Amino acid sequence: MADITAPAYRIIPIVPKLIPGAMEGKGPFVASDKINEAIGFPGKLVEDWHDKAIAKMGELLSKYRSLKVYMDACVHCGACSDKCHYFIGTQDPKNMPVARQDLMRSVYRRYFTLPGKFFPKLVGARDLTREVLDEWFNYFNQCSECRRCSVFCPYGIDTAEVTMAAREILDSVGYGQKYSNEIIGKVHKIGNNLGLPGPALRDTLEGLEEDVKDATGVDVKFPMDVKGAEVLLITPSADFFAEPHIDSLIGYAKVFHATGTTWTLSSMSSEAGNFGMFIGNYDQLRAIAMRIRQAALELGVKRIVVGECGHAWRVAYSFWNTLNGVGDGADADDKFAQMLQKQLDHRYKQPMHICEFTWDAVQAGTLTFDKSLNDKHIITFHDSCNVARGSRMGDYAGGQFDIPRNIIKACANNFVEMDPRTTREQTFCCGGGGGLLTDDLLDLRVKGALPRMEVLQQVKDDHGVNFMATICAICKAQFTKVLPIYGFDRRVVGGVHQLVSNAIILGEDK
Ligand code: SF4
Ligand code: SF4
Repeated sequence: MADITAPAYRIIPIVPKLIPGAMEGKGPFVASDKINEAIGFPGKLVEDWHDKAIAKMGELLSKYRSLKVYMDACVHCGACSDKCHYFIGTQDPKNMPVARQDLMRSVYRRYFTLPGKFFPKLVGARDLTREVLDEWFNYFNQCSECRRCSVFCPYGIDTAEVTMAAREILDSVGYGQKYSNEIIGKVHKIGNNLGLPGPALRDTLEGLEEDVKDATGVDVKFPMDVKGAEVLLITPSADFFAEPHIDSLIGYAKVFHATGTTWTLSSMSSEAGNFGMFIGNYDQLRAIAMRIRQAALELGVKRIVVGECGHAWRVAYSFWNTLNGVGDGADADDKFAQMLQKQLDHRYKQPMHICEFTWDAVQAGTLTFDKSLNDKHIITFHDSCNVARGSRMGDYAGGQFDIPRNIIKACANNFVEMDPRTTREQTFCCGGGGGLLTDDLLDLRVKGALPRMEVLQQVKDDHGVNFMATICAICKAQFTKVLPIYGFDRRVVGGVHQLVSNAIILGEDK
């Protein structure tokens, strides 16, 4: 931490000067044998890694038609090249989205196209050597799968999917990333990313009940494993203990209290996050999502609500229906998915985001606020990439942008937008998403945060902004770490439901 410094601010938009090799060898730690084997991957690089990697690539190309289209369709127009926060911050040309894709495209051409087989040099085709594999590990683990580049690509090429495929191939030959694979192991074993056992969670929740009672005089409950509750809340485990995450958990509890909704958390399924998506592995993605279905069936809940977590909402909104049977289109041949469909109350969206829940209650008049209680804040909103570009909220395109802002405006007086070139679908990743929120990548994370820090500084200078709300656990953790390196107070970042919690009027005990 001591020798890491923040890059100098620029005036956007500026195409950075190139520094070739700036991030070479600066990828994350490699997973140990124990970590890989615990989740069913080869412990270390297998002897026949070359053949296995090419076979896996062939399998993915035939399974995911989009991947093959992405490999063939790029015309190297360069529209994406300066759109990645990691390229902007590091200036390493291999962090340009098109260059990142080309790491795989060059190998694809060599083994899966005729010109590449016969005239490799003419078409930029490369053998998959150990050096190339190392390059894959390094640079595909410097992409947060945020999809910003795809917004600017005239062909809609999604580098995030290419990154996911590369990581899946790397895992299949025993070359996994430590942070993501270790976290996945903890979810399988204990039920959450942080490895917090049930008794520790219960202690935390009891402590929160006491704190809220002391602060408000109202008995707001934080229930766990309550059978027959109406709502099962699935929230990122950081909400149970990390700052500022826990303040949003308090906000959710107050919303449930004020609306008279019975709700529960689950000790067995105490994690909304799903790192299976980050490593592009369907089996891991599904196994993690299945814990939620099991909890919902055991507790007999009628609704499933997801807390403030960006990638979790993308998985829930976009994939849960086929992964675990929550949502429309659940597998008709899966009897547990059908059982869950019968159990859930379809008058409500399944799953529902906590922001949708809260905004519905605001519109129905069941929540009231004293907005002046947030007057110390001049607030802006950071759109989290997975919510912005991988999901929706409400019943129209763009609801995922409007609903969190509507809630902020309902509970606070002072709201300011950041530069529109960096919000809504054009938002920048915080710099820590996609399985990169690890200290072995802190240099990359600080550099990747540069574009967001620049526009935050603008609204601070122009409007006195002192609070940046967001609805993602990773954004909150990432900004808490990097804000001080850029000269901000770490408490500048917080949750939307933290603001809700400050201003909500609780009324009588329910
Ligand atoms: S998906 Fe995001 S992190 Fe990855 S290359 Fe594109 S802009 Fe960069
Ligand atoms: S914008 Fe699309 S087509 Fe153009 S270089 Fe980037 S990925 Fe290729």
